[in-house]
Amino acid sequence: MTIGIDTDRAISLRCYAGSPCSQPSTHVVLWNPPGQQYATTACEAHTERHMALVKNHQPYTIPVVDGTFTVLADHSGTQVANCRHCGHHIYLYPRLVDRDNRWRSGEYDETGRCPDGERRNGTVVHHEPATTVAERDRALGRTFCGRRLPHALTDCFVAPTARRIGTPDRALTAITWALAQNLPPYPKLLLVLVARHADPEGVYTRDVRHMQTGAGLNNAQVLRSLKILNARGLLLPDALGDEVCYRLPVEAYTA
Ligand SMILES: [Zn+2]
Ligand SMILES: [Zn+2]
Ligand SMILES: [Zn+2]
Repeated sequence: MTIGIDTDRAISLRCYAGSPCSQPSTHVVLWNPPGQQYATTACEAHTERHMALVKNHQPYTIPVVDGTFTVLADHSGTQVANCRHCGHHIYLYPRLVDRDNRWRSGEYDETGRCPDGERRNGTVVHHEPATTVAERDRALGRTFCGRRLPHALTDCFVAPTARRIGTPDRALTAITWALAQNLPPYPKLLLVLVARHADPEGVYTRDVRHMQTGAGLNNAQVLRSLKILNARGLLLPDALGDEVCYRLPVEAYTA
């Protein structure tokens, strides 16, 4: 999925307490001014510095767990990772930090069990963070929902089925066919335009004006091109009722 990047790289969380700081975070620092709650993430050195800065507001720290790549923006200090079994976002709420099976798929998840992981393994599986880029990409590449873009289980839906590989897009086949014809430039341009706008049966119902603007040709160039295409049997005038149309030969639509 990633090219030219060291994919064994450990996933890390940046230090937001020092600005700028290139060290990875080791701690989430939480503090509570009256009636409020704040959290930031900090490397070793900045953890200490930040604790001193907010010392009057009951600061405390939570270790950053391997695999965490961000924290929620709600100041709760919730860590976010991708599950190495199912690829989905998983959350480590501060109150669960010392528990076993502490990662959750969302607020209402009480067990931390990984449905996709269980489906795949046939045993009880709990969400666990991917700790390297390679591990995360592997999980994202084989999600049951089929979506490679990281998302939470609560935002999960099955990805729309992609066109079956090996079934070429018909318009693309027609355009490729048009490009392969040995023709002078203007007729070839016109043929590509028609192939692009023809319906699945190869019928083009737009008019000469569309040909002009679409292919950037003047009227005389269009008419001359139509004559050449017609003579070679590549684009045949036809009619749908009293409407004039043009028809591509069937080869254009067969791969
Ligand atoms: Zn730092
Ligand atoms: Zn999972
Ligand atoms: Zn999903």
